[in-house]
Amino acid sequence: MSTVRLFYALWPSPQLAASLAQWAQAARPACGGRVMRTETLHLTLAFLGPVEAQLADTLAAATPGYGIAPGEVPLDHLGVFQRPRILWSGPRDTPPSLQAVHDDLWQRLAGYGLAKPPQPFRPHVTLLRNIEHAEPPPRLPADAADGARTPLIWRYDRLVLVASESLSGGSRYRIVAQSRPLDA
Ligand code: ATP
Ligand code: MG
Repeated sequence: MSTVRLFYALWPSPQLAASLAQWAQAARPACGGRVMRTETLHLTLAFLGPVEAQLADTLAAATPGYGIAPGEVPLDHLGVFQRPRILWSGPRDTPPSLQAVHDDLWQRLAGYGLAKPPQPFRPHVTLLRNIEHAEPPPRLPADAADGARTPLIWRYDRLVLVASESLSGGSRYRIVAQSRPLDA
């Protein structure tokens, strides 16, 4: 039976993605590793893994109706996941509004027999993979234009459903559906 590897995510604006890509470049000398491509940067809300093609179609059709309350995530922290050797950026503390987006989404997904993982939600954007040092940089990267080390603010108004496709050169992401902004 054919399956599709799916996840739900927040997708950054091109401007935010460009800022995050600068952070990744700035952190690389200290961390080593591989910079993620700008067009792949995202914040995973729910990783579904392989689902049957029919369920994938059902989810894609339902996703426009999964409107979320608009909100903001401060990207004010750099962290390391030791085992997968990832440098990430995310909020130091998960905003309750984002936690609610995650929890509400999993509640919808439970209706399709999909189970929320037992681990707590740790919102993050992967910036570098295969890092060589266990510690994240102690400070946020400096802005290329003015040198300021200020958090980035992620303003979101929708979630996206993404298919993760294996190619010989690695994974490729394809946005297959997105929720309609509630205030549109
Ligand atoms: P690859 O695994 O081929 O290196 P990838 O990790 O970019 O590529 P996926 O494994 O499809 O692609 O993952 C898609 C997104 O879901 C990524 O943000 C990834 O961190 C996240 N993810 C993957 N597996 C899990 C998991 N078991 N639990 C939570 N999130 C996951
Ligand atoms: Mg993976």
